[in-house]
Amino acid sequence: MVLLEEPIKSSVTLRNYVNGEWVEAETNVWRQIVNPATQKVIGRVPISGSGDLEKAVEAAAEAYPEWRRTPPLTRARHLYRLKNLMEEHFEELSRVCVMEHGKVIDEARGETRRAIENIEVACGIPSLMMGYNLEDIAKDIDEYVIRQPLGVFACIAPFNFPLMVPLWFMPYAVATGNTYIIKPSPWTPLSQTKIMELIDEAGFPPGVVNMIHGDAEVVDVILKHSQIKGVSFVGSTPIGRDVIYKQAAAHGKRVQAQCGAKNFIVVMPDTVIDQTVSSIITSFFGSTGQRCLSGANLVVVGKDDSYHQRILEKIVDSARRIRIGYGLDEATQMGPMQSEDRKKRVVGYIEKGIEEGARIVEDGRDFSVMGEYPDNCFIGATIFDEVTPDMTIAREEIFGPVMCVIRTQDLDEAIEMINKSNYGNAATIFTSNGRIARKFQYEVECGNIGINIGIAAPMAFFPFSGMKDSFFGDLHGQGLEAIRFFTESKVVIQRWF
Ligand code: NAD
Repeated sequence: MVLLEEPIKSSVTLRNYVNGEWVEAETNVWRQIVNPATQKVIGRVPISGSGDLEKAVEAAAEAYPEWRRTPPLTRARHLYRLKNLMEEHFEELSRVCVMEHGKVIDEARGETRRAIENIEVACGIPSLMMGYNLEDIAKDIDEYVIRQPLGVFACIAPFNFPLMVPLWFMPYAVATGNTYIIKPSPWTPLSQTKIMELIDEAGFPPGVVNMIHGDAEVVDVILKHSQIKGVSFVGSTPIGRDVIYKQAAAHGKRVQAQCGAKNFIVVMPDTVIDQTVSSIITSFFGSTGQRCLSGANLVVVGKDDSYHQRILEKIVDSARRIRIGYGLDEATQMGPMQSEDRKKRVVGYIEKGIEEGARIVEDGRDFSVMGEYPDNCFIGATIFDEVTPDMTIAREEIFGPVMCVIRTQDLDEAIEMINKSNYGNAATIFTSNGRIARKFQYEVECGNIGINIGIAAPMAFFPFSGMKDSFFGDLHGQGLEAIRFFTESKVVIQRWF
């Protein structure tokens, strides 16, 4: 075992970032940040109150008129600087992410890369933000559309991609001329704080990007504040649907709420087994299953029992060989759950699966790191066979390394099952047949479709889609949809006498 050096040496006390300054939160409420692998306290985060948020909104609103008048190319140059700084600090950022989240270093590096890619795409703002026009809509009259920013926007982020998720939105928001407030997850606030240090160094004018640590109280102010024009949320469905979407919309805001998931991975009898199994393992157990694009239900299609058995044996065999440990050890393939509560929740679902009659073929509850680290957050890969679609484990988001294997006779039955799910984040098919793949892409009601791809994660220049209970709003994050979300279209009709 060779451990990479930890970038956080002793516990850090976090502050908010408002108007270009690091400021103490006005609160007595703090939460400890614990490294889930080592159980060491690595920081404490303030749970800010409404007064802290008010100051950030004030700063962002004050910075807006000048920032809006700054030419897009000049705005983009700030993002170029941020990109370069993130490249310079690439490894440090990735390791901080491992320390607070538990994912393995290569997953964290992938996350940092994806975050940077969104900055790179937003740097194209002079072209991306262009409107369009038509001469002679009537005699001597022309008409055109210009895109304009709206004011202050905010992001409410989840724990599971602490580094990347705010950068799904912030670069596009500020590139289009808006000002911004980031509220990281209070469980994993360190990566975003590190990025904010780089934002500070990149020299954005004060108030253009702000960060407030906190939880529900701060969110409540964001949702109701008259100066905040729109909110990007990523998190669970109950919060996204019942709190964020409803409240923000009721207060006249634009909303994009990317929510929970229950993703189906369909395996056809004609698939290339070895590559498929390796993709499946990454899909279900990568990031310890704490990804909104993780596989959750594995649907094996076909009437052939021996094929089902063969593929299951290969999956179980590969799952048993996953090296579990601290993510800063480069040999580790799966880290711990992010917190003890999240592990308990997963254990609860495993118990429920057994109670409801699914057959457990690999039980992650038995896993121990054998004294190398405290066992608090560690759990092994878990596989259930003979799962039926009505079981709780097949319907609800578990958000842990649990695979539910379901059998169907044919593809139609599989598609019907997927479309009955209330979630619609992602679905993948493994097949060697183009006609079957097209049918799947055509009929499945999910936002992100994989064809022989285990994790269908859209690149920054495509929208990160999602449907049904996995997304509330109209315009998704990333790419051109982000440009539209962060701008208003103004139509001008002109004639000169
Ligand atoms: P969460 O809903 O618990 O928290 C998300 C954010 O909401 C946090 O910033 C939190 O502080 C805030 N929040 C929590 N409770 C609140 C309340 N009562 N009122 C107001 N704000 C509140 O989600 P999480 O556990 O941090 O993240 C995991 C979830 O996110 C999973 O369901 C996962 O599928 C989803 N997710 C979705 C996507 C996607 O693109 N669809 C991406 C990543 C994660």
